[in-house]
Amino acid sequence: MIIQRVVLNSRPGKNGVPVAENFRLEQSTIADTVEAGQVRVKTLYLSVDPYMRCRMNEDTGSDYLRPWQLSEVADGGGIGVVEESKHDNLAKGDFVTSFTWPWQTVAILDGSLLQKLAPQLVNGRLSYFLGAAGITGLTALLGIREKGHVAVGANQTMVVSGAAGACGSLAGQIGRLEGCSRVVGIAGTDEKCSILVQEMGFDAAINYKKENVAKRLRELCPGGVDVYFDNVGGDISDTVISQMNQNSHIILCGQISQYNKDVPYPPPLPPDIEKIQKERNITRERFLVLNYMDKQEASVLQLCQWIQEGKLKVRETVVEGLANIGAAFQSMMNGGNIGKQIVSVSK
Ligand code: NAP
Repeated sequence: MIIQRVVLNSRPGKNGVPVAENFRLEQSTIADTVEAGQVRVKTLYLSVDPYMRCRMNEDTGSDYLRPWQLSEVADGGGIGVVEESKHDNLAKGDFVTSFTWPWQTVAILDGSLLQKLAPQLVNGRLSYFLGAAGITGLTALLGIREKGHVAVGANQTMVVSGAAGACGSLAGQIGRLEGCSRVVGIAGTDEKCSILVQEMGFDAAINYKKENVAKRLRELCPGGVDVYFDNVGGDISDTVISQMNQNSHIILCGQISQYNKDVPYPPPLPPDIEKIQKERNITRERFLVLNYMDKQEASVLQLCQWIQEGKLKVRETVVEGLANIGAAFQSMMNGGNIGKQIVSVSK
């Protein structure tokens, strides 16, 4: 059977900025027959995520991420529909997902590696299982629960960087649902800041590309910062950490501002900021959502419940067509997304 697929065309280099041309669409073939235990799936949605930048390097710099190989099909979070099944637990028409879905229009996959999805849990919005009801939502929720020390009635102020992105937009809302009394976001455009406040219930948002972040934080967080959900690292994080309170907590979610640099993860703080962190006893522990998969099922149900109740507002930036996945990745790394970046493959 003839299919379309996207392979890694070239590496941006450890210190390079990734571009759409690092990926290539090509025609390929898959077997016409499905073997015992396998299913043939049609791809519906693919997830595009910042961690993929590390997979573009020959060495990802982490033990849990495999590098993509040149001229081999890329993969990541994906959702599809079963077209033919020779697996006992899966039937034609089932919606399924995997963290290692190949970037191709149709694939034959091992059925035991797929998770079945229940669309009614997300009001039929299947792609949410890649975002708010998937790894992204889990990252926000479990990051806050495992590393945030958020407590109802503790009158805590949370700051979120990368706040209009997939994780950030959920993290601010979940911080509030879990008990924070004040939530302030940092994002890269006025439109993003406005959505955070008008739509997602943040108390305020700072446009880091236009405003003086240190000054605005002092105005917006007069009692200091108790919890910092850090998606970006670099200068923004140094500025936030400088205004954090004694015994406060950083949720070290990601460091996207450093992903095009050849630095270790997590990148060390500059000496003056590290001094503040130590003197104020600010926790900054590594957080990896994949280490908490025993909590996946209950946490996804919690996220779905909040979505159904309208307590968690979800935004997606959907790009149509497998051919555009490289461009979608480039755009997201440059701030082109609001909420979760998704590629819709079926159309
Ligand atoms: P995302 O935030 O939706 O997309 C990236 C956003 O980051 C862009 O839209 C851009 O928005 C911002 N950005 C890009 N370059 C920046 C820079 N130099 N400085 C400041 N902001 C920059 O992506 P996501 O999926 O939600 O991921 C957010 C972070 O969480 C990433 O660092 C990712 O690696 C991490 N993550 C961690 C885990 C875990 O288990 N720890 C799991 C999933 C994701 P602006 O317009 O605001 O610049």
